[in-house]
Amino acid sequence: MHITIFGTGYVGLVTGACLADVGHDVMCMDVDRDKIESLERGELPIYEPGLAAIVQRTSALGNLQFTCDPFRAVAHGAVQIIAVGTPPDETGAADLQHVLSVAESVGRHMAAPKVVVVKSTVPVGTCDQVAQRIRAVLDRHGSDLDFDVASNPEFLKEGAAVTDFQRPDRIVVGTISPRVRSVMSEIYEPFNRNHDRLLFMDVRSAELTKYAANAMLATRISFINEVADLAEHLGADIEQVRKGIGSDPRIGYDFIYAGLGYGGSCFPKDIRALLHTAGQLGCKASLIEAVEDINQRQKSRFVAKITSHYGGAHKLRGKTFAVWGLSFKPNTDDIREAPARAIIEALWNAGATVRLFDPVAHAAAIRLYGGRSDLVIAPDKYAALDGADALVLCTEWREFRAPDFREMGSRMSSRTIFDGRNLYVPERLRGEGWTYYSIGRPAVS
Ligand code: NAD
Repeated sequence: MHITIFGTGYVGLVTGACLADVGHDVMCMDVDRDKIESLERGELPIYEPGLAAIVQRTSALGNLQFTCDPFRAVAHGAVQIIAVGTPPDETGAADLQHVLSVAESVGRHMAAPKVVVVKSTVPVGTCDQVAQRIRAVLDRHGSDLDFDVASNPEFLKEGAAVTDFQRPDRIVVGTISPRVRSVMSEIYEPFNRNHDRLLFMDVRSAELTKYAANAMLATRISFINEVADLAEHLGADIEQVRKGIGSDPRIGYDFIYAGLGYGGSCFPKDIRALLHTAGQLGCKASLIEAVEDINQRQKSRFVAKITSHYGGAHKLRGKTFAVWGLSFKPNTDDIREAPARAIIEALWNAGATVRLFDPVAHAAAIRLYGGRSDLVIAPDKYAALDGADALVLCTEWREFRAPDFREMGSRMSSRTIFDGRNLYVPERLRGEGWTYYSIGRPAVS
């Protein structure tokens, strides 16, 4: 099938590469010329495990092409997939300007019927807006060409995006048209062989499903963080509690890790967009509001732990903190709304210096914070510790799980760790002379 994808970010590029890999003929379009030029050279603008090899292989076969030219892009695909960003605007609502600008392009350049698929995460009603925009442009040009608009929200996780796309739990498609159903079945047939994972529903339900899924996952994270707070006050250990509840199959172990809260390009913006929608409708979304509040509080509580260890924020002036991890979670270079940023910025506001190490987000760190005199970007995790008063662990990268504590202690000026991800065993660290703070567990020293 000939498919065009608009947007070559985490979702668009993974979708394009994986569809090309099973034999579809894919063209990816982006307005960012630098991205397209680097993709044409076989270089990926993002870090995503396993993706580079697929992009290189499918490009070499001619199944995956890149362009900045909207005319070429629209001409290519019988199916036009919109996977552009939907960042929050100043009110918290999803900003639809990129989605609607693609709709405008499709309307302007289409010369044959198209199926337009909205994969970006968009508020309920957006597919209707996309259809209206395309129809308005066609009317302006005196065209009566036919088209359909379907919703196909994406559920991949950054860091595991390729395998998530290739082995989806479900593929949600919002359409009531039998013709679109059959087109979408054909696209996804290669990923739908063992079990039928295609879930067809009406467009509005598909749009809402994506927000409901993210809100549910965020709720689990905020729930466990709230219980972690109680555990700290009660002298309980959240890691024991987590195992105690996760073993119940009705609860399960996923998404109940206490930590610094959720971040990234999806949960925070999608929760706010859902709250915005609820507000517009006059609906009270108290649970989702609390999820967001707890998430904000989680970061400030962690900073408060650091400041109270030193006897107040003013005592942080002149101190040096090693920070391990900047990306919002392991296996990605995405630092959008990463909790680490809030922690680092609080340390800077108090006059401290940060020595940062992240296994893949160095370039992103330089783009965001480059040139600051109170930041040192270290070449490896141990170098980040040189002369540090404490280690602040923000992202649970695998290489942070079993570090050489003796080497760490010999490099730091004080054996102190603030662990935002509960990676270490408190009793073991106490035995080796560390002061160790974590989340939802008693501090040890
Ligand atoms: P991204 O910011 O990584 O990429 C978006 C891309 O769209 C950019 O390269 C941008 O240049 C391009 N773009 C903007 N306007 C364009 C236009 N008019 N034509 C062509 N390209 C254009 O975004 P992302 O993380 O891939 O997310 C895309 C959408 O998918 C969002 O709605 C997001 O909420 C949703 N989503 C993201 C994830 C994720 O894990 N990142 C998962 C599921 C859903």
